[in-house]
Parts: sequence; C-alpha cells; structure tokens
Amino acid sequence: MKKIVVFILLLSSFNVNAQKADVRVDIFDLKEDVKKLQSENQRLSNDLSISSTKYENRILDLGAKIEDLKFELNVLKRIVEQYRNSVSDNSNSTSSPKTSTTEENVVEKTVTKPKPQSSSQCSATTQKGTRCSRSSRSNGLCWQHGG
Ligand SMILES: [Zn+2]
Repeated sequence: MKKIVVFILLLSSFNVNAQKADVRVDIFDLKEDVKKLQSENQRLSNDLSISSTKYENRILDLGAKIEDLKFELNVLKRIVEQYRNSVSDNSNSTSSPKTSTTEENVVEKTVTKPKPQSSSQCSATTQKGTRCSRSSRSNGLCWQHGG
C-alpha cells in the first residue's frame, strides 16, 4: 500500500508541478499580452495626442481664417455702405429703413421725373427703332438728326 500512496503522491506532485508550469506559461503569456496591450495603448495614445494636436492646430487655423473673413466682411460692408451712400447721393434720396414709404415716393419721382441726361439726349428715333443715344443740341436733336 505504501508504494501506491507514494506513487499517487508522486503523480499528484508531478501533476501539480505540471500545472504550476502551465500556470507559469499562462502568466508569461498574459504578461506578454499585457506588454503588447500597453505598447498598443501607448501607440494609440500617441496617435491620439498627435491627431488632437493636429486638430487643435486646424481649429486655430480655422479660427484665424474666420477672423480674416470677418475682417473682409467688414471691409465689404463698408464698401456696400459707401456704394449705397453714393447711390443715394446721386438720386438725391435719403435712404433710411424707417421712411420706406417716402423712399418709394422718391423713387417714383425719380422715375417719372425726366432725367437731366435725357434732356440733353437726342429725341429722335434711329432706323433700328431705338432712341438715338447722341447728345442733343438746342432743339433737342443731335447733329445727325438735324440739330
Ligand atoms: Zn439723333
């Protein structure tokens, strides 16, 4: 009986040793996996920091571009404002959004009122059927139409 017990003990201890070796291998593999995962994690975090700095730079670029566009928009607004002022000066109408009805009246007047340019334009009609574009003389006709 003793021999069998010793044999069983030996067998079980061998099994335990084998299991320990397996466990060691497993732990080694797990450590390798952890190392791989750590390096992967490091790589991903590096990528993330690189891409985030890229995006930060891009956002800064876009912010600067937006500032440029705002500046250009202000310049264009000023140009439009100046253009409006010059147009309102030419038509002698004070264009303000509050007096829209009087502005319409002014526009109608300027439309119905004969322009000073038309008085100096030849009143004759050309052979094409359109009005002569030459400047008139004292009788309202150009030199070609007997002015
Ligand atoms: Zn003419």
